[in-house]
Amino acid sequence: MSADLQDLAAGLADWSAEASHLEAARRDRSGVAAHGAPIAVVRARTTAEVQHTARWCTSTGTPLVVRGAGSGLAGAATGGAGAVVLDLSAMDRIVEVDPVDQVAVVEPGVVTAVLDAAAAEHGLMFAPDPGSVGISTIGGNIATNAGGLRGAKHGVTRDAVLALDVVLADGRLVRVGSRTFKGVTGYDLTALFTGSEGTLGIVVGATLRLLPRPVAVATLLAVFPGVRAAAAAASAVVSSGVRPLILELVDGATLGAVDELEGTSLQVAGGPDGAVLVAQTDGSSPEAARSDLERLAQVVAPLAVSVETREDTARAHELLTARRAALPAIEKRGRVLIEDIAVPLSRLAEAVEGVRAVAAQTGTDIYVIAHAADGNLHPIIAVPRSGGGEGASEDEAPLPPEVLAAADRVFDVALRLGGTVTGEHGVGVLKRDHAARELGPDVLALQHQIKAVLDPAGILNPHKAL
Ligand SMILES: Cc1cc2nc3c(=O)[nH]c(=O)nc-3n(C[C@H](O)[C@H](O)[C@H](O)COP(=O)(O)OP(=O)(O)OC[C@H]3O[C@@H](n4cnc5c(N)ncnc54)[C@H](O)[C@@H]3O)c2cc1C
Repeated sequence: MSADLQDLAAGLADWSAEASHLEAARRDRSGVAAHGAPIAVVRARTTAEVQHTARWCTSTGTPLVVRGAGSGLAGAATGGAGAVVLDLSAMDRIVEVDPVDQVAVVEPGVVTAVLDAAAAEHGLMFAPDPGSVGISTIGGNIATNAGGLRGAKHGVTRDAVLALDVVLADGRLVRVGSRTFKGVTGYDLTALFTGSEGTLGIVVGATLRLLPRPVAVATLLAVFPGVRAAAAAASAVVSSGVRPLILELVDGATLGAVDELEGTSLQVAGGPDGAVLVAQTDGSSPEAARSDLERLAQVVAPLAVSVETREDTARAHELLTARRAALPAIEKRGRVLIEDIAVPLSRLAEAVEGVRAVAAQTGTDIYVIAHAADGNLHPIIAVPRSGGGEGASEDEAPLPPEVLAAADRVFDVALRLGGTVTGEHGVGVLKRDHAARELGPDVLALQHQIKAVLDPAGILNPHKAL
C-alpha cells in the first residue's frame, strides 16, 4: 500500500481495496461501467470519516465519487480509474421524527422506504417515492432530486428538503437551509446542492419536510386502445380540477413484460398497442377519496376501453407493485437504455407520438412508462442481448448505432416540445452532451464557475453532470 493510501486508511474504520468491491463500485443501475477501477471503497460511518476522506482526496488530487445505493440510472455514482468511492449507505440513522414540527432529521444512507415507514408511525409520510423506494437512499434522492409516483401531487425531493449538512471538497462541514418551512436568508444553497449529483458537496445530514399521511386512497385503472389516447386522458385528468396523488401511464409492451415477470394479466384488455393509466386519489376520509376518483373516472371514460375503480388497498397495492416492476421486467428482456425526458403537460400526447415515431424510424423497441402528471416520460430502449447472457462484458460493449440514434432523436423530441433531457434521473455521464445542448454555452459556463467555487480542485465526481 502506498504511503498516501496509508494516510487515508489511518482515519477510517472500514475501507476496502479488494478487487470485487472495486469492480462493483464501477457501476450503477444504468448498466454503465466507469473506465478503469477505483483505488479504494470507503464505507464511512461518521461525518468525521467523510471529512477525513474529502481532505485526503483534495490534498492528493484524487477523484472522490460519493455513492448511496448505486441505484442511479445516469452513470453518476460510478467510480473510475484512480478514484476513491465514498459509500454512505452505512450512515443510516434516523435521528428524529418530529410530529409537531413535521420534520425528520436523517443521515444520508437511510433507505427511502424506511424513512417513510418511520414517518407513518406518526401519521405522516415522506412524499418522494421513486420506483426504487425500497433500495435508494435519501442522500442519493437528494443528489439526484429524485421524483416518484406521489410527485403528481407532492412534487420532487427538492420540495421536501429544508436543510442540509454538507461536507465540502476541502473537508469543511457547513449547514444550509433551516428547520422552518419558510426561509429566504441568503441564496438558496439547499436547492443548489439538491440535484447536484455529488459534484458540489457531500450530504451527511438532511432535515426533511413530512406531510400528513392520507387516511384513505382510491385507485383507478383505465385501459386505452393506444398510448396517445392514454396520454390525452392524462391531460384531461390534469385539467379536471382534481389533483391525483398518483398518475402513471404504462404502455402495452411494458405491461406484457410485467405480465411475464409477475404472472399478472394486465395487457389483456388493451393489447400490445394499448396502454393503461393508474390513478390514485387520497383524502381525509374514504368518501373524499372516492368522490375525487369518480370525477377522474368520468373524465377518462370517453377515451377508455374500460375503467375499473377500487377502494380496497389490496388492488391498489397490486397495481402499483406492477408499475414499480416495469423496469426490472423490461431489463429481463434485454439490455436497456433508460431515457427520462419531461415536456410541458400540454405536449404529453405529442411526446408519446414522437417517441413512437422514433421507434418506427430507427427500428428499435421502445417501451414507454410515464409519471404522466409531471409530463415525465421514460422511453426505455431495449437492446436484445446477443446471446452472451446478462454478463458484465456484454453490458460494457458499445451500444448499437440504431439505439444511439434513437436516443438522440428522443432528446430532439423533448427539446422541440420545450422540455428537458432529464426530468429526474440526472445527467451523470450518459447525458452530458445533451445537457450541454439544452443549457447552451453561457449557462453551461456559469455552472462550471459555480462548481469551481465549491470544488476548486475539481475532485468531486469529475466529468459527471456538467
Ligand atoms: C427500479 C428503479 C426504479 C427507479 N425509479 C425512479 C423514479 O421513479 N424516480 C427517480 O427519480 N429515480 C428513479 N430511479 C433512479 C434512482 O433510484 C434514483 O436516482 C435515486 O435517487 C438514487 O439513489 P441512490 O441512493 O441509489 O444513489 P446513487 O445511485 O448511489 O447515487 C446517485 C447520485 O447521487 C450522488 N450521491 C449519493 N449520495 C450522496 C450524498 N450523500 N451526497 C452527495 N451526493 C450523493 C452520487 O454521487 C450520484 O451522483 C429508479 C431506479 C431503479 C433501479
